[in-house]
Amino acid sequence: MLTVFGSTALDTIRTPTKTLKNVLGGAATFAGISASNFVKTGLIAVVGKDFPERHYQTLAKHLDLRGLSIVDGKTFRYDGKYDKTLSTRETLKTELNVLANFKPTVPEEYKKSQFVYLANNDPEQNASLIKEFDNVKFSMCDTIEFWISTKRDSVIKMIKSVDAVVINDEEAKLLTKEHNLIKCAKKMMSWGAKYVIIKKGEHGSLMFFDDVIFPSAGFSLEDVVDPTGAGDSFAGAMIGYLASKSSTSFSSIKKAVVYGNVLGSFAVEKYGLDGLLQVKKMDISKRIKHYEKMIRF
Ligand code: AMP
Repeated sequence: MLTVFGSTALDTIRTPTKTLKNVLGGAATFAGISASNFVKTGLIAVVGKDFPERHYQTLAKHLDLRGLSIVDGKTFRYDGKYDKTLSTRETLKTELNVLANFKPTVPEEYKKSQFVYLANNDPEQNASLIKEFDNVKFSMCDTIEFWISTKRDSVIKMIKSVDAVVINDEEAKLLTKEHNLIKCAKKMMSWGAKYVIIKKGEHGSLMFFDDVIFPSAGFSLEDVVDPTGAGDSFAGAMIGYLASKSSTSFSSIKKAVVYGNVLGSFAVEKYGLDGLLQVKKMDISKRIKHYEKMIRF
């Protein structure tokens, strides 16, 4: 089993073509639903009493929700606006609400998870939660500018507590205070991460392990409408694939990165979660085959 911990949110997303208000979002939501294409996935997250029943039902279709707490107060809210090229996003508001003082616990049924993903979330909560698992074979984390700016030391501590970091290029630079991505990766490895995966949006990703660099192309698309959650979908697919194979071999991790690129590509083709919610196993295998053709030479 895979456990995913992180934010479950009500997002307001402003794209040049559409504004979505209070839609279901959050890093753990995207990552968990993406992972559920590969393996049974348990969610640990918190929402407020204002969380709509229809969003709960969407989560319940894909995820084990024994780890979802519903508490008094308002759900975490994120508001972000893309520029007209969809390549940069400005954060207009981050309202932590019930996430602020959340003390997560791991349900008994999840404790044996061998694969754990700490999605974008308060790094102190993430680092303390990972200690509660009995039998972790592979753990991974992500972070975002908000936490790097407010709790950088805790982000570094969180990195020490996992096997792999998956992070986007701009955030890797901000966190490490380096400009070159190889230097960024080396610094995160010096903090304790064995694997570093730097996501480069539509340009794919770079994976670092020891002195090996594994670059992988993004799946090229002509029509992108909303990049929200692409990085989380990437990470969820990666760890979901590994959990489904119960493998942490280097060759499985390379394949997992490819699945990450492919699931990220489904996420950006539709608004909000729709791309991920509509994808079928058949679509994934077709796109993987297509991807293989694209990169073979
Ligand atoms: P991404 O597009 O991969 O950066 O992920 C966007 C998702 O991350 C959105 O659905 C947000 O709800 C969530 N998110 C944004 N800011 C934060 C934050 N500071 N902590 C946790 N989750 C966040």
